[in-house]
Amino acid sequence: MIPAQFEYEAPGTLAEAVSLLAQDPDGTKVLAGGHSLIPAMKLRLAQPQKLIDIARIPDLAYIREDGNLILIGATTTHYQLESSDLLRNICPLLPECAKSIGDVQVRNKGTIGGSLAHSDPAGDWPAAAIALNADVVLVGPGGERTMNSESFFVDLLTTALEPGEILREIRIAKPEGKFGQAYQKVPHPASGFAVVGIAANLSFGADGTCSAASLGVTGVASKAYRPAATESALVGKQLDEQTITMATAHACDGVDINSDLYASEDYRRNLAIVHAARAVRAAAARMITG
Ligand SMILES: Cc1cc2nc3c(=O)[nH]c(=O)nc-3n(C[C@H](O)[C@H](O)[C@H](O)COP(=O)(O)OP(=O)(O)OC[C@H]3O[C@@H](n4cnc5c(N)ncnc54)[C@H](O)[C@@H]3O)c2cc1C
Repeated sequence: MIPAQFEYEAPGTLAEAVSLLAQDPDGTKVLAGGHSLIPAMKLRLAQPQKLIDIARIPDLAYIREDGNLILIGATTTHYQLESSDLLRNICPLLPECAKSIGDVQVRNKGTIGGSLAHSDPAGDWPAAAIALNADVVLVGPGGERTMNSESFFVDLLTTALEPGEILREIRIAKPEGKFGQAYQKVPHPASGFAVVGIAANLSFGADGTCSAASLGVTGVASKAYRPAATESALVGKQLDEQTITMATAHACDGVDINSDLYASEDYRRNLAIVHAARAVRAAAARMITG
């Protein structure tokens, strides 16, 4: 359980990190919290020649409001998100999701940027990012680009990051009007990773009708996804029990469902449907005005 030999650099700025990464984008890995990368290196599933530690770059960990946006720096830890009073008031899904991750040690070191960049099929942040329609800001030698989180997740452990790019920031539109959010998860009893995890972000009209529904599902397929049929079956409706049950029955439509020693395909489908309903119910019950 000892990693192969590697070099280590701790740049003081993001520009320096980008330039170091550009020297050998294929043989170099960005290191953030290290809670996915280091285990992979110990198992020799990853053998980078060099690590660029971005966790020591000042000003890359932050949670800020900027007009109608919430800006989150890539190296913001799960714990910083879990314990943010600002987020608890304006976007409670983020602290709720953070709180569900691993244990205290994982939450103290692991970062939101690292989790999104890793695209673990059982990671929690991808579900929340999709439900919140988050954008990710990527920076590389050619400059900066912004893309929607849903298209950022390409496949199992694969994102749209190009070699040499670093995820710098996550941007989320502040929920406005009447809205409700919730995260429901079945944690694996050993690791805490999501066997299934459902993030729900709902908006409501003045009469309580659901005016917009945005959900993210993790743990079920090779990458986190949006259950589009469930979302469209909720919009324009009063969220009574029958509507929620009928809509969330479609939570796994169109995806190949994972099966492993802990949860078979059928069991996972059932967990996803039951927990999608719970997430929608909880989000509706927590309706607040932004
Ligand atoms: C025991 C244990 C339990 C866990 N339980 C959970 C859980 O319940 N839920 C959950 O979601 N996760 C869980 N995790 C994973 C944890 O959340 C990790 O912290 C997270 O997946 C990766 O974040 P990191 O900052 O540690 O990234 P690292 O491990 O440093 O990096 C992960 C990958 O992303 C790349 N990377 C990192 N940051 C960037 C960036 N800014 N730009 C580009 N590439 C980048 C790295 O090169 C690497 O390939 C657990 C981990 C452990 C060890």
